[in-house]
Amino acid sequence: MASADSEEQVFNGIAASPGIAHGQVFLLRQKELTIRKYKISEDEFRAEEMRFEAALMETRRQIQSIRDQVKGTLGEDEARIFDAHLLVLEDRALIEESIREMETSFENIEAALWEVGQRYIQAFDQMNDEYLRERASDIRDVFRRLISNLMGQQMEKLSDLVDGHVLVARDIAPSDSASVDSSNLQGIVTDAGSKTSHAVIVARSLRIPAVVGLGDFTEKVNHEDVVLVDGYEGRVILNPSEDTLFKYGKLKIERKGLEDKMIKLAQKASTTKDGHKIQLMANIEKPEEAKRALEMGADGIGLFRTEYLFMNAHMAPSEEQQFQAYKTVAETMGDMPVIIRTLDLGGDKIMQSGEFAHGHESNPFLGYRAIRFCLDHVDLFKSQLRAILRASIFGNVRLMYPMISGQPELQQANQILEDCKHELAEEGVKFNSDIKAGSMIEIPSAAIASDLLVNDTDFFSIGTNDLIQYTIAVDRLNDRVAHLYEPTHPAILRVIETVIRNAKEGNIGVGLCGEVAGDPVMVPLLIGFGVDSLSMSAGLLPNVKYVVQHMTLDEAEELAKMALAEPDSTKILESLLDFYTTRMAELY
Ligand code: PEP
Ligand code: MG
Repeated sequence: MASADSEEQVFNGIAASPGIAHGQVFLLRQKELTIRKYKISEDEFRAEEMRFEAALMETRRQIQSIRDQVKGTLGEDEARIFDAHLLVLEDRALIEESIREMETSFENIEAALWEVGQRYIQAFDQMNDEYLRERASDIRDVFRRLISNLMGQQMEKLSDLVDGHVLVARDIAPSDSASVDSSNLQGIVTDAGSKTSHAVIVARSLRIPAVVGLGDFTEKVNHEDVVLVDGYEGRVILNPSEDTLFKYGKLKIERKGLEDKMIKLAQKASTTKDGHKIQLMANIEKPEEAKRALEMGADGIGLFRTEYLFMNAHMAPSEEQQFQAYKTVAETMGDMPVIIRTLDLGGDKIMQSGEFAHGHESNPFLGYRAIRFCLDHVDLFKSQLRAILRASIFGNVRLMYPMISGQPELQQANQILEDCKHELAEEGVKFNSDIKAGSMIEIPSAAIASDLLVNDTDFFSIGTNDLIQYTIAVDRLNDRVAHLYEPTHPAILRVIETVIRNAKEGNIGVGLCGEVAGDPVMVPLLIGFGVDSLSMSAGLLPNVKYVVQHMTLDEAEELAKMALAEPDSTKILESLLDFYTTRMAELY
C-alpha cells in the first residue's frame, strides 16, 4: 500500500466512460491459465470426447446462470452478449475442429482446444472493425471458462469487491463484469481495452467512470492505493494530492450541473438564437438505441446503419426479421423521420461466414462494398427494400443508398425499389408508395457531380467519414496517417459546400451524418454552409444542441465565408475553435 505522502503520478489512457471517481484500488490480478499438455493414445480419444462434452455442458450452465443474473440487474439488452457466448459453445465447426486437432496431435483435449482457441482469437484480433476485434475478448472468455472447467479450476471472482473501490485490471472479461455488484463500484481502469469493449459499454450504461488502454498500469499500483479516475479526459491519478482532489471535487460539481442542464436543454427545440431550425438527429446501429435517441432529444434517426443486423449473424436476416427491426424503430420514433440506410457491407463491415461472406480484396474500401454489393445481389437487396417498404406504414420511414458513385447506380437502385413496390402492390401488401429515397454522398465523384443527381433522389446525406478518406486518400482506420485526416482541409470544405449548394439549387434536402456532424466546433461552419440536418451519436446531441441554441445564422454564414477564403486548414480550425471557446465558454 502507498504511504500517505506518496508522490502524485498521472497516467493517460482512453476516456471510455465520462465522470470522476475517487477511491481505493481493487486490483484484479488475473492468473495466467497454465494449460496441462500431455500425450494420449487413440484408445483414449473417446474418453477425452466425453470429458469435452461434460465441460461444454457445465460451461453452458454457468454462462446461462450469468446471463440470468445480468438480465435481472441490467436488463435483457445487456444479457444478450452472453447469447454470443452460448453460440460459441454450440458452434459445431469449432467443436469438430477441436476433436480433429486432438486426433491429429495425439494431445489431451485441453491442449487441442487451446490451439483452436488461439486460431479463432487471432482471426478476430486481426479484423479491421473495432467492434469485431473486441469480440475476440468474448471468445477468449468462453475458452478460458471451458478450459478451466476441463482442468477442474475455478475462475477468479470479482464478487469480493467491497464498497467504494475502483476496479483495476489488465482486462475485464464480459463474465467478470457480470459478476461485479455495480453498487460497489466507483470506477473502472484497465490496461487493455477500447471504447467498445463490453465492460466499458456496461460502465457507460451504469454511468460508472472508466479509463482504458493504460498499458501497464496494473504493474504500477497496489491493492488499496488511492486513485482518482477522470473519465472525461482519460486520465488516472495515483495518490492524488490535496490540491488535485480539491480541483476535481469542484469539477465534478460543475460537470454534474452542466450535464443536468444539457439534458434539460436537449428537450427544447434545436433552433438558433434567430429562429433558424436545424434538425438534429441520431445515428443508430440497433433498434433498441432509438429509445435513447429520444431521451437525448433527437428530432429523428438520421442514419440507421443496418449492416449490424447482418454482421453478428451467420446468415442474412430474413425479410421478416428485418421488417420487425425497422418497424420497431419507426414505431418508437412516432412521426419523426427514420432514415434507414440500405446495406453497407464491405470495407471493414463484412460477414464472416455464410453465403455472403466476403472473400479477400486488396483494397476493400475501394472494392466490393455497399450499393455495388447490393446491385450484384439483387435478391438480398430486394428483401431489404421490401422490409423497409413494409415498415414504412408504421412511421415516417425514409431510405438512402450508401456509396453512390454516379447517376447510373442511383437509377438502377431506384428501379429495383420500383420493382419492389410493384411486387408488394400485386401481393396486396400495404406500404407508403411516396417513400423518400435519398443518396449518401460520400464518394468524391458523387459530390463533384452532385448537380447531376438531384433529379433522381429525394435528399442527400453527406457521409464525411468516407468522403474525407476518399478525398484526401487517407485510410480512416490507419493511425499512421491519422494526422492527414483533416475535416477542415480546404478541399473538404469546398466539396461539402458544393454538395449543399447543389442540393439547394435542385430543391432537395441535405443533411450530414458523418462524425463531423457531432463535433460542436465544426457545427457552426456546417450550418453556415446551409445544411438542413445533422445526425450523430445520441450522446453528442445535447452538446450540439447547446451550440445551435447559442449562435445565429449570420454568425455561421460569416464563419463559412471566412473558411472558404482561407487556404490554411489549421487557421480555419483555430478560427472555429476561437468562435466555439468564446461563444460557448460555459461548455468549453
Ligand atoms: C460516413 O461515411 O460518413 C458514414 C456515415 O457512413 P459509415 O461511417 O457507416 O461508413
Ligand atoms: Mg460511409
